[in-house]
Amino acid sequence: MNVVEKAKEEVVNTARKIIQERLAFGTWGNISYRPVEDRVVITPSGIPYGELQYVDMVVVDLQGRVEDSRWKPSTELPLHLAVYRARHDIKAIVHVHSVYAAAFAIARQEIPVVLEEMAQVLGGKVPVAAYALPGSTDLGERAVNAFGDKGYAILLASHGLVAAGEQLGEALLRCRVVERNARILLYARLLGTPVLLEEKEITTLRDKYIHAYGQERNV
Ligand SMILES: [Zn+2]
Repeated sequence: MNVVEKAKEEVVNTARKIIQERLAFGTWGNISYRPVEDRVVITPSGIPYGELQYVDMVVVDLQGRVEDSRWKPSTELPLHLAVYRARHDIKAIVHVHSVYAAAFAIARQEIPVVLEEMAQVLGGKVPVAAYALPGSTDLGERAVNAFGDKGYAILLASHGLVAAGEQLGEALLRCRVVERNARILLYARLLGTPVLLEEKEITTLRDKYIHAYGQERNV
């Protein structure tokens, strides 16, 4: 099995996980993986995630030309491609409308770090990209600006969450952690004023996580 075929399997498996974990429902959300520089495997448009099969995956190049598919690519293809073109270190993207992250996106508030695990896997807050219509090339440009050079998760204003990584497992983990951090932060605000982790604490947690057990990690 070549790397593109293997990537199709990984994208399908990740799509099943985001449904099972209630990070997404129906057809909302999309996933892509770039196994080689100029090939992207992305979920198709309009097919419920629960029904997705390996053969439904769409393969495109970085300009969005469809190479192999019976379906149209996700309508958020321009967003995924814009991020891949801007960041060579990013090879996987998971986009969901999960409830708690979306609440912050709709309030257009960044998500600060309150949990150890968010400091570890992201190393900083999740910023909000300026609003643009879903599916538009403007949305892609604004997402790229929000990711910057080093970011791995952003909110799309009035829309949802985008997390990225070198592998799909990393991008998915970041979605889970941001969603959990957002949920706990909201509850903490009901109790009073949450205490955010300080920059130096976040940096220490991130560094320890990356270098844990002598293994270099990017997550
Ligand atoms: Zn969306």
